[in-house]
Amino acid sequence: MKNEIVVSGIRSTGNLHLGNYFGAMQNYVKMQGHYECYFFVADYHSLTTHPDAKELKNNVYKVLAENIACGLDPEKVTLYAQSDIPEIPELYLMLNMLAYKGELEKTASFKEKARAQPDNINAGLLTYPTLMSADILIHKGKYVPVGKDQEQHLEMARNFAQRFNYRYGETFPEPIAFNFGTSLVKIQSLDGQGKMSKSENENATIYLNDSDELILKKIKKAKTDQGPTQPNSPMPDYIENLFLLMKLVSHEDKYLKYLNDYNQCNIRYGDMKNDLGNDMVQFIKPIREKTIELKQDETYIKSVLKIGQEKARTNASKTIQEARKKWV
Ligand code: AMP
Repeated sequence: MKNEIVVSGIRSTGNLHLGNYFGAMQNYVKMQGHYECYFFVADYHSLTTHPDAKELKNNVYKVLAENIACGLDPEKVTLYAQSDIPEIPELYLMLNMLAYKGELEKTASFKEKARAQPDNINAGLLTYPTLMSADILIHKGKYVPVGKDQEQHLEMARNFAQRFNYRYGETFPEPIAFNFGTSLVKIQSLDGQGKMSKSENENATIYLNDSDELILKKIKKAKTDQGPTQPNSPMPDYIENLFLLMKLVSHEDKYLKYLNDYNQCNIRYGDMKNDLGNDMVQFIKPIREKTIELKQDETYIKSVLKIGQEKARTNASKTIQEARKKWV
């Protein structure tokens, strides 16, 4: 096993969807056993947009069950809840002294979320990138398997690490986004309006707990058009997204057949959606069923979190002590 460190997290704001799976989870599973992996449920992060803490713990259990159902093995990786590691908020505080209001305000995700919740533009939302940096740097993470939407945050994490190292002495490595040498994935919403997301565009997002019927219905309704009129035309985003999904869940022959049909201007989107829908059902079903089984075993889920907390804190406390020595 390589001892390079991998860190990544998923917010507990709703059900996991195909964007989470292909942007993050699939890489987590591929990396386990090959790297020293820390994967966490980002429950503090979820309070920036979902301030009602009532369901916080239940949502942590749910995301954790989904993580394991997707193939993560708690014996091979450290799985924990962000709020169980007090060293993270301490490092967050230190990094906030190195983060400037102007750069935080310029972050695309901040602007987007501030537009979406004008009555709750809280400091947590603004400083999301510093908390995310603390999540990664607390373990001296080198690789961060994330979707394309997180690229900008990761660049900020490198900046904060650099600033800390420059001012107080070499402490943190500069983390980079990781996707096995290929470009980072972005799964668009099926209505062509933005990315798939846990709490927006629910009818155009496929969740890992959607029933077979719902999956088929959502894919049937996915945005298409009359099809190209010129051979080898460029694809609009929403068509490219359907091809991407087919590439991810269907047999390659099927994908190539429809690609050829598209390039020859005789694509039948109805047939393509039928095939994609059936393949998606086969892909999601085992994950959904395993999640239901795991969620029923709360004792097991709690024990995974407890073991994860101990392992993560052992590592985090080494880093925070090192940082404190440099800082004060
Ligand atoms: P979040 O749901 O915002 O907590 O994101 C958790 C992980 O899923 C991050 O690594 C994101 O980059 C990834 N992710 C979320 N939505 C998408 C999407 N639509 N396409 C690709 N990756 C995504």
